[in-house]
Amino acid sequence: MSANTIVSETLYQGYAQSFEVTRQLFEVNTGHQHLQIVDTPFMGRVMLLDGVVQTTEKDEFIYHEMMVHVPLFAHPDPKRVLIIGGGDGGILREVLRHKNVEHITQVEIDQSVIDMCKEYFPNHSQGAFDDPRANIVIADGKDFVANCREKFDVIIADSTDPIGPGEVLFTADFYADEKHNCLAEGGIMVAQNGVPFMQGEEITNTWQRLSKLYRDASFYVMPVPTYVGGFMTLAWASDNSALRSQSVEQIQARVDAAGIETRYYNAGVHVAAFALPNYIKTLMK
Ligand code: SAM
Repeated sequence: MSANTIVSETLYQGYAQSFEVTRQLFEVNTGHQHLQIVDTPFMGRVMLLDGVVQTTEKDEFIYHEMMVHVPLFAHPDPKRVLIIGGGDGGILREVLRHKNVEHITQVEIDQSVIDMCKEYFPNHSQGAFDDPRANIVIADGKDFVANCREKFDVIIADSTDPIGPGEVLFTADFYADEKHNCLAEGGIMVAQNGVPFMQGEEITNTWQRLSKLYRDASFYVMPVPTYVGGFMTLAWASDNSALRSQSVEQIQARVDAAGIETRYYNAGVHVAAFALPNYIKTLMK
């Protein structure tokens, strides 16, 4: 790829986002997916898997903070966390900031993503993969949950979209194994669930599957500039519905106790993120 090329992401039929690219830093077919890492003047470094933007240096903090701090501050005392996907290390980095978390297992299908992100996105993982609390497993998340016998208080599925290797992480079987084999009593599951303005059927499919399994299944939102189309949704599921409707004061007390500095997340944003616009609520059918 020559300097100052325009790269377009065409995840959606008839709609694209484009980046000026100054340099392609890395490209490989890993056997699981096509991995590209490019330098852009506007968003910093950008990673694409199968041509779809996965993360950028400039806006990753929004997604990683909301994917981690909402469930970890909603849970009264999270000690064990399971991460599925998340090969860039941003989720693991944010989970490790919670000093009360004693153990994290991360199940990532593609070692190349971890290796390349350690090299080209050092600020995403910041050494997280070497933390003694982190146990990195290279496997398909589907197989891991099918054979899992450990229990986790919070499960975070930071997968690619339901195309390619990520597709299996959106199936009813996966959600059932994840809940029955891996989630502790009173635990919380969250998962990357796409941009409903562009991928509305992902909300409907996920809601139908999770609401059959959990007493409380819903979503929460945040705007991630490079996940184009407005709000990005994260799926939420727990058998303890009270965990999704805590007050700002309850959350604030835990945030104050944890002493974690953030750039997007705060207790008010935490509570507000569960207020869904009607166009998203109508997809939950
Ligand atoms: N934040 C991004 C997003 O919202 O699209 C996702 C980032 S992360 C790079 C996605 C990760 O999911 C990748 O590292 C990919 O290798 C991993 N992945 C995809 N399918 C998987 C599977 N079946 N099991 C485990 N990891 C998987």
